Amino acid sequence: MKMDRPALHAEEMLRAVAMRDRAYEGRFLYGVETTRIFCRPSCPSRAAKPENLRFFADVPEAQAAGYRACKRCRPEERPFDVEKAQEIARLIEKRAEEALPLSRLAAAVGLSPTHMQKLFKAVFGVSPKAYQDGLRARRFKELLRDGDGVTGAIYEAGYGSPSRVYGEGRRNIGMAPSAYRAGGAGETISYACRHCALGQLMMAATDRGVCFVMFGESEAALLDALAAEFPKARLQKSIEADGERLSRWIDALDAHLSSRGPRPELPLDLRGTAFQLLVWRFLICIPEGNVVSYADVAAGIGKPKAHRAAASACAANRLAVLAPCHRVLRGDGGLGGYRWGVNRKRALLDMERAGLPEARKR
Ligand SMILES: [Zn+2]
Repeated sequence: MKMDRPALHAEEMLRAVAMRDRAYEGRFLYGVETTRIFCRPSCPSRAAKPENLRFFADVPEAQAAGYRACKRCRPEERPFDVEKAQEIARLIEKRAEEALPLSRLAAAVGLSPTHMQKLFKAVFGVSPKAYQDGLRARRFKELLRDGDGVTGAIYEAGYGSPSRVYGEGRRNIGMAPSAYRAGGAGETISYACRHCALGQLMMAATDRGVCFVMFGESEAALLDALAAEFPKARLQKSIEADGERLSRWIDALDAHLSSRGPRPELPLDLRGTAFQLLVWRFLICIPEGNVVSYADVAAGIGKPKAHRAAASACAANRLAVLAPCHRVLRGDGGLGGYRWGVNRKRALLDMERAGLPEARKR
């Protein structure tokens, strides 16, 4: 085994590779002598026998030794900078009403447009443009509710002209009924856990997007809940499969909950009855800081008599925070129930209220 940088012991690096420990990202690379391929410490590929591993300080060193970059973990690319992606999201939030060409956004954070776009998509799951569209669509609905009239709302939300409102590509929410498979039969769902400000958090995703976000007492309890929701799917811990993507998504949500980072606009894979899908899509459109009643939800989906069914659909929500059922209160203004406990509901509402500009607080 060759060691150019004595900062890390070989034993430590072997352990990091065995654990696929992301904390060692950027500190070393490893190559496999039998395949002549080199990887990041966190590469999800099956690691080779310890005696076949060789360690490198950086990409040029690995290449000089005649190794090729792994196609899976792409060690020749820079590690993803989640904080930088959050800085971009904050910038978009501040200037959502303006036209923001990629070149201008990229210049503002000191990256090339290509790299900026790629980083943003890796962390938030959508392009900067789709993120901005999502913000505008929510603000458009908010302006309409505040009584500015449709035309005023269109211009204030930055659409420029009424014809653009309906042409804006929205992010992927939900799936075609033809693609729906009960219980996740034949599918692989990957999951990851974090300990966030509201307790243990689990996120799970199909290849279409996030299908499960829940709070719970422990990883084991959450895994039981995931298995109950998708009894026929193959469940695997994200590190084995699609680790990189899901890790960044749950990190972005954790940052939102634990340190007031921007709210991630992740691609969602919603699954439910036609009625549940109506309710959940309505929830996704409730602007941050706003609350509605179950009767508002029923009226909002065009079924004013169905407020009990609307409440049941909220209670069956599998996407905590991302489909914000915590913004639905009882008709008398009482907190109402919450699938993950009313204390968490109160904490989420307090957090969102605290984040609003003064003028909008009542
Ligand atoms: Zn690799």
